[in-house]
Amino acid sequence: MNTEREQQKNVITRRQLLRGGGVLACSTILVRLFPNALFARPGALSARAAAGYAPQGNQLEAMRAQMGATPIQSTKLADNLTLLMGPGGNVLVLHGPDGKIVVDSFVQPAWTKLKQALDGMGNAPIKLLIDTHWHFDHTDNYARFHDAGAVILAHENTKKRMSESHDLKPLGMHFDPSPANALPTQMFKDRHAMQANGEDLELGYIPPAHTDTDISVLYKKANVLHCGDVFFNGMYPFIDGETRGSITGQIAGADKLLKMADNNTKIVPGHGPLGDKAALTKYRDMLVTARKRVQKLKSSGKSEQEIVAAKPFADLDPAWGKGLFNGDAGAKARPYNRRLSGR
Ligand SMILES: [Zn+2]
Repeated sequence: MNTEREQQKNVITRRQLLRGGGVLACSTILVRLFPNALFARPGALSARAAAGYAPQGNQLEAMRAQMGATPIQSTKLADNLTLLMGPGGNVLVLHGPDGKIVVDSFVQPAWTKLKQALDGMGNAPIKLLIDTHWHFDHTDNYARFHDAGAVILAHENTKKRMSESHDLKPLGMHFDPSPANALPTQMFKDRHAMQANGEDLELGYIPPAHTDTDISVLYKKANVLHCGDVFFNGMYPFIDGETRGSITGQIAGADKLLKMADNNTKIVPGHGPLGDKAALTKYRDMLVTARKRVQKLKSSGKSEQEIVAAKPFADLDPAWGKGLFNGDAGAKARPYNRRLSGR
């Protein structure tokens, strides 16, 4: 390991990522079950940082660069509906004479290749950008879409969250409030229905799950459901407790999504490969198992450290620890961008 390189501000090494992964396995699943533990306890973060766990500095630019370097992989889900995967959260494009309607926007360095992919889907303008939630790997190109003349549609909490500054401490990332031209321009509260390009779209708010800004996007005719980050297909999720995410909310969110799907629904996760009802059910069941095990250990009086040491997810790790978040910091390394794209 090149330690000099590791110390450079804008470089995330595998070791740092694994440290982050180890912390996040605790913070995402365990800490939300222990609202008074870990990061909610003053000094807990610095104790972990002192132990060498927390990434240093603002890793946002490094993460942008790493994710942005991932190529875009395109999959046709219907004649007028295309899934783009790679440099950030999964993007869906509904194209046709009414203009392009895009869900999520990848990270900033991927703009040129995203624009090329969009340009390859006909001459109609980019009419609308729908955002699944506030996180940067979904909202990062808002300003570009805004400048291209698109309306930016999101849940009302997304505008609120993007107008604030945030620290995602476990990832070592700081976010300043977004500039005015990078904020949603149209908001909804519970539900928003629309028709375009021969498709019926229904957008629905999901009460706090991954964040408090999550929405689903259902394409009724194509029978496609975009879940945003309420669904990480085949990997442990990141749950953003700083904007009211919780494992219980994530499970309730998965239940809500399952009710919208049938056995033929193509289910698009925020991260990971295209899924279906069976994959979403499996993911939901894993979350329920994880929660149950930790609750059992907690009610037996075990401390947070004892629970982590008991490795309650050891048997789940081979199947679910291949993504960004491993159940153990010693798990094998894979490049970060591949982790998030699930490839
Ligand atoms: Zn997210």
